[in-house]
Amino acid sequence: MTRPIQKIDKAEYQKRLKKITELFSGMVVHADHLSTYRCPYKNRLDECTAKFGCQNQRKPQKVGDPLLCAGDDKLDYRSAWETEEENNTSC
Ligand code: SF4
Repeated sequence: MTRPIQKIDKAEYQKRLKKITELFSGMVVHADHLSTYRCPYKNRLDECTAKFGCQNQRKPQKVGDPLLCAGDDKLDYRSAWETEEENNTSC
């Protein structure tokens, strides 16, 4: 059983497209601003999701839980990251 093809109302389509664009534009602006001070590896629970060492990582209260982030969102977090290149030079 096939359904008949519905005609697209171009004006309605443009209206919805404009609404969606405005919605996402606001989200992008907010994310852009947030990324200037909040580490992208810090989740909403202040847990660290990075798969590398960082000076801001703290042990969780329960064994097996994710590491916690002690970053204060005020500093440039990137200087705290421990890159492999840095680790290799200490050998
Ligand atoms: S511990 Fe470091 S890498 Fe992890 S979320 Fe905090 S600042 Fe980012």
